[in-house]
Amino acid sequence: MEKEVLIVEDEDKVASFIKKGLNTQGYVSTIAATGREALDFIADRNFDLIILDIGLPDITGLEVCSKIREKNPGVPVLMLTALGSMSDKLSGYEVGTDDYLVKPFDFMELLVRMKALLKRSHDHSRLIEDVLLKEADLELNLSKKIAVRSGKEITLTAKEFSLLEYFMRNRGRVVSKLDIAENVWDIDFDTGTNFIEVYVNYLRNKIDKGFNNKLIHTIFGMGYMLKNR
Ligand code: CA
Repeated sequence: MEKEVLIVEDEDKVASFIKKGLNTQGYVSTIAATGREALDFIADRNFDLIILDIGLPDITGLEVCSKIREKNPGVPVLMLTALGSMSDKLSGYEVGTDDYLVKPFDFMELLVRMKALLKRSHDHSRLIEDVLLKEADLELNLSKKIAVRSGKEITLTAKEFSLLEYFMRNRGRVVSKLDIAENVWDIDFDTGTNFIEVYVNYLRNKIDKGFNNKLIHTIFGMGYMLKNR
């Protein structure tokens, strides 16, 4: 999908130079010529990255940046400045800018910095998207397919992982062997074998063995339940 960039820059020449360059690279960009205009755009649209000039005619880029951060802490902000003094950089970092570029700059350098920021924010959002299931000290990371108990990673086979995921999704509820067969193995008939008991035992050996607090409980005549005590 195309990345949307907001260019906040009051000098027409600089703004259109950046916009044209970004166009050729497949980015969609919007220009805001003042700080207030930028804040209006930010209020109703989500941008993937914001290029922000520090010297604007109304409110400074620093103020704009801290307002952006109040609304959207995650969007990458690349600040432009004609000054490039250390104190400007520091105030920029204080209000939450991610990187700095001193004017005049080379378009390729802008592009390289932008790509680095976009990659970082992509990696960051992937981290946030990790789906976790937790019960007591057991944690299942569905995105990374990792199980951790008491801070220690447990190696599970794909089927053991699916079985544990099914237990975790139904924690506190009794699940019958037929429920497990249907949902984990996609088998909707009685196989007449004890393969589910076998798998549940594999799983117990990996996640419960050595712990006083057992999580997988047998509910006699009914099935199993994953619960904390
Ligand atoms: Ca300016």
